[in-house]
Amino acid sequence: MQVEYPPAISLFLPEQTMITDSYGRTMNYLRLAVTDRCNLRCAYCMPEEGLDWIPRKELMTYEEMWRICSLFVKMGVEKIRITGGEPFVRKNLLSFLKDISGVSGLRELTLTTNGLLTAPAVPELKKIGIRTVNLSLDTLDKDRFIRITHRNGLDKVLATLDGLLQHDIAVKINTVVMEGRNIADIIPLVQLTKTLPVSVRFIEEMPFNGGSHQVCLNWDHKHIREHIQGYFPGMLRTVDLPNATACNYNIPGHKGDVGIIAAYTRSFCGTCNRIRITPTGVLRTCLYDAGKLNLKDAMRNGNTDAELQNMITDIILGKPKDGWEAQNMLVKQHRERESMATIGG
Ligand code: SAM
Ligand code: SF4
Repeated sequence: MQVEYPPAISLFLPEQTMITDSYGRTMNYLRLAVTDRCNLRCAYCMPEEGLDWIPRKELMTYEEMWRICSLFVKMGVEKIRITGGEPFVRKNLLSFLKDISGVSGLRELTLTTNGLLTAPAVPELKKIGIRTVNLSLDTLDKDRFIRITHRNGLDKVLATLDGLLQHDIAVKINTVVMEGRNIADIIPLVQLTKTLPVSVRFIEEMPFNGGSHQVCLNWDHKHIREHIQGYFPGMLRTVDLPNATACNYNIPGHKGDVGIIAAYTRSFCGTCNRIRITPTGVLRTCLYDAGKLNLKDAMRNGNTDAELQNMITDIILGKPKDGWEAQNMLVKQHRERESMATIGG
């Protein structure tokens, strides 16, 4: 695909400014959801019958997404994660990734995928310069995979895992822990770290499943940690990177490591450096907020980059202190529960 991109950056923008919120947190990590569509129906993300998919004309075009990414990089974003929905169900994703990787000033481009369509793309991801991929994998058992995702696809996900490791692309496995669904998988997934240099991250289930069920948080981060420590008493806490969402652990002798993400408990908001753009272009300063600025509409209404930059700066100044404050604002607006696929996980 050959795309002619409009000039993205106004000549009047200051070089590499930093976007900081009113709590002094610098936003240097952008997560961009390129679609809400998906080839799985993970129980924690959406109902089995899927979602009311966003009409195509309401999705941002690649040109619009490129312009937004360029603008954010000029404003200090160093890392961009491409997510969704499933990014690989959007046509021409690889060309888009290649174009984004060329944005001057961007230090890291990465993506989150369910791995179903990813294996054949791995050599190209390597060429594009992608160094880390987050791969969703909630179980190593074929039947449980079908029960959780409502599709058959474990073999393809495992082929993706293999391909990524063979191409020396670091893998973080994302596992959402769900009562009654994949508790039996926690230890086998930890055991993967014995022989594979992967980081297996167990995530508390969040209430973003498109209204498919009531979330039960029996398995919060403490419960998950105690469960793993019961099997691996020697598990050691390791140093977390700044802005990390996971508390990381290593089991002596294991090649990989284990992370636990308190996504529902929200204990990491104080160092949050993340902003999200939904597939329709809504800027969300927190997973748990509603988003007040639609950048796609702002672009389609003819705003210049300098005008967009001012709008973005204002919204980021209003970033809530933490996910609890954001959620309280949501309740006031009587919003229905969403799916992670329309937010961009
Ligand atoms: N389709 C891709 C995938 O599954 O990797 C990317 C999008 S998915 C929404 C991004 C991440 O969000 C996945 O790792 C998924 O496990 C996680 N996720 C989705 N719904 C969640 C929920 N309700 N609670 C916690 N994590 C969730
Ligand atoms: Fe699809 Fe990812 Fe949601 Fe699963 S978590 S339904 S793979 S978007």
